[in-house]
Amino acid sequence: MSITVRAAAKINLHLGVGRAREDGFHPLDTVYQAIGIHDDLTLTAADDLGVTTHVAAHIDPAAVPDGPDNIVLRAARLLAGHAGVPATGAFEVRKDIPVAGGMAGGSADAAAALVAYDRLRDLRTSDDDLLALAAELGSDIPFSLVGGTARGTGRGEQVTPVEDPHSWWWVAVPTSDGLSTPAVYAHFDRLRPDAPVVPAPAEPVLAALATGEPLRLARALHNDLQEPAIDLRPELGDLIALGEAEGALRGMVSGSGPTVVFLCDSADGARATAAGLSGAGHGVVLTATGPVAGAHVVA
Ligand code: ATP
Repeated sequence: MSITVRAAAKINLHLGVGRAREDGFHPLDTVYQAIGIHDDLTLTAADDLGVTTHVAAHIDPAAVPDGPDNIVLRAARLLAGHAGVPATGAFEVRKDIPVAGGMAGGSADAAAALVAYDRLRDLRTSDDDLLALAAELGSDIPFSLVGGTARGTGRGEQVTPVEDPHSWWWVAVPTSDGLSTPAVYAHFDRLRPDAPVVPAPAEPVLAALATGEPLRLARALHNDLQEPAIDLRPELGDLIALGEAEGALRGMVSGSGPTVVFLCDSADGARATAAGLSGAGHGVVLTATGPVAGAHVVA
């Protein structure tokens, strides 16, 4: 008996970051979009609990923990505890989402694990409870469940779907050396001690999404973590300039980076930008559209 769940990478079209709260979390006003780069997670009934991972060629296998540190096992234990059942099952994760790249790959796997565990064990957990468990595991995980395009507030875990009826073309360039999310936030605190308590509002991106015009969205994209990420990794600024010279409407650090994403005007525009970046020596260049669905059963 087994089940396979697919979960998507996310990018932040808007990432407004406010000054750190007393509990250390930064208040966010963000707009997430799920894009067509996926991890697939298969759960098979077993007597023990375990996880094995298979990674795409562009991912360093050593970057993904196989043991108890894998977030998939934490998700299974949390849901099993909530339901009062033993935490057992063999998880197999096929990763295509860059690791530690600011695309919420771990969060996608955690969301997939929650859905797979719930369905395979027929737990019938309510949506509200699944979202609450997801938020307990990590700020981006509720969005990984919901998918599509959504606004995230609080520390990003309070998600509300937003109107986004159009399709957008993206090119993503991951970097083999990850950039840890806490390190980027710590650098944000150093660079922006005067950051506003209320994060920059997402309205300009929401208005641009409604128009369906790539140029409008390109102008509205906003990421408060881009400056600290580029300060830590100056080559990311060069990469953004290169992609824009190769035809992208706008390049931007994805979340806390170091993946850089480029918004393009069309499928042809994305192909041309990707070819230009590959020609300039970037080995891994991914093309995707968004929005796509959140964690969902595929087999
Ligand atoms: P975010 O955008 O949510 O900050 P990220 O994309 O930058 O996340 P992840 O790919 O989620 O980063 O990985 C962060 C760390 O989590 C990795 O360095 C890795 O050690 C650990 N990790 C645990 N489980 C997983 C998993 N299933 N997939 C990837 N990383 C995992």
